[in-house]
Amino acid sequence: MKGVLSNSGKFQGLGMTSDRTRARMVEALRSRGTRDEAVLAAIGWVPRHVFIDEALQERAYEVDKALPIGHGQTISTPEIVAIMTELLCGRDAGAPKKVLEIGTGCGYQTAVLSRLAKEVFTVERIAALMDGARRTLRNLRVINVIFKHADGHFGYADAAPYDGILMTAAATHVPEELKAQLAVGGRMVLPVGRDGGNQQLMVIDRSDSGFSQRVVHDVRFVPLLNGIA
Ligand code: SAH
Repeated sequence: MKGVLSNSGKFQGLGMTSDRTRARMVEALRSRGTRDEAVLAAIGWVPRHVFIDEALQERAYEVDKALPIGHGQTISTPEIVAIMTELLCGRDAGAPKKVLEIGTGCGYQTAVLSRLAKEVFTVERIAALMDGARRTLRNLRVINVIFKHADGHFGYADAAPYDGILMTAAATHVPEELKAQLAVGGRMVLPVGRDGGNQQLMVIDRSDSGFSQRVVHDVRFVPLLNGIA
């Protein structure tokens, strides 16, 4: 069973899952280059171990570990979550009000975003993962997230446009539907590239005059797949 909030509101679990361990992870992220205090505070708030299977929980606060979450998927490393969140929500970007996330997975990145944006819409193609993420976020009393079981290639048109769009699986190309759902003045952060091949983290900004894009990092993500499961 995953860790849950007890009635007193304190997290169960000691040692590797304690607040102090989490604070140490935040300091490690700071020393690796994350500077935005609001982003670090959001990461410091979210208990990462409750998103992870009990057998792996003691590794929950290692900054560079992607851990399995079932269904062949992985939770992104704290380091990549910090980098992507700072690119999307850091002070330079201007905190986005409405964010779309593609690839909910276990919901960890979703929870971090929920502390920085007013509303988060998150799309996941695997129903079982989405249900698990919904339960975990409910236990954490996160209430500003809307879940959608769908193929994220098509975004979530109902609530568009978004100030920020973040994708946590690698697409072979930037989906046109996602660009169309980005507000003018908005920013999209996503990995692009082939499964198992070269992938780059890209930042795409939309202005009055169109889209501009830059590559910020080489990365490795699971692929964005077609259809739902
Ligand atoms: N941020 C998540 C990352 C999970 S891995 C976490 O930290 O847990 C990437 C996720 O993207 C997986 O859950 C996978 O099922 C999902 N995914 C892959 N292709 C997708 C698609 N077309 N639409 C929506 N989600 C997709």
